[in-house]
Amino acid sequence: MPKYSAESVTHKITEHSCKLPACSNSKLQGKVMRLCAQCKSVHYCSTDCQRADWPNHKQLCKRLAAARDTEESEGNGDLAEDFAAWQAAMGPLLLTWICTYGLTVYRHPENIRTKFIFLSLKARAERPFTPLKMFEYGSITVLDMSALDGLLGGSAQDIKDHISESDKQVKAKGKAGTALVIVSVKRPGGSGPPFVRVVPVVLRMEELAQDEFMGWENMAKDIINEGRSIKHRVAKLEKSGQLEDAIVRM
Ligand SMILES: [Zn+2]
Ligand SMILES: [Zn+2]
Repeated sequence: MPKYSAESVTHKITEHSCKLPACSNSKLQGKVMRLCAQCKSVHYCSTDCQRADWPNHKQLCKRLAAARDTEESEGNGDLAEDFAAWQAAMGPLLLTWICTYGLTVYRHPENIRTKFIFLSLKARAERPFTPLKMFEYGSITVLDMSALDGLLGGSAQDIKDHISESDKQVKAKGKAGTALVIVSVKRPGGSGPPFVRVVPVVLRMEELAQDEFMGWENMAKDIINEGRSIKHRVAKLEKSGQLEDAIVRM
């Protein structure tokens, strides 16, 4: 059985910026970013930045680390690792893209804060040989933020606080905001509790300047099912001259 180490591939995710609000270093600038070893959810460019941010990060870090323990105790540790490998292989573009078109942020930037995306995936019965093909597409649902309580129960408020805190921070750095994606992964046959991951997605101002893109949902489905990177897909459409047809200018 192939085994993917989450940590070995996580560093490949691009555009990670230092979690310390006062620091603007990011991976994009060629900086080596390190994950917080406890929660494995936030990045820092240096131990100095990490130390300076610890009073702010401490509470969330503990909550995230506890969530990882829950995953382990529910027997979903393997799905957590598979998801991290899949996310790293896909890169940040897929979820950015789903948020941009699913939330129609170019027409309704306020949707970044008032709605969220629920992405349902299925683990394959046969384990693939590339993390890109780890999951099968289930569905994408756009929900009002008020539906989060029903979905996550007691931890909904924590998540809302975390997202709005992140939203404030990235806006201060000139980004459009932080959208919320809840990913749920079911095992083949639907056995056991699903693995659920809360993914904050930072949207740039460029996303607000996008055009309507018909068929984005089918394309997301293809990208996930075929295990292709989104760049590959766009390049293919461009080559065949279909990209213009796919984009309806407003
Ligand atoms: Zn820093
Ligand atoms: Zn942490």
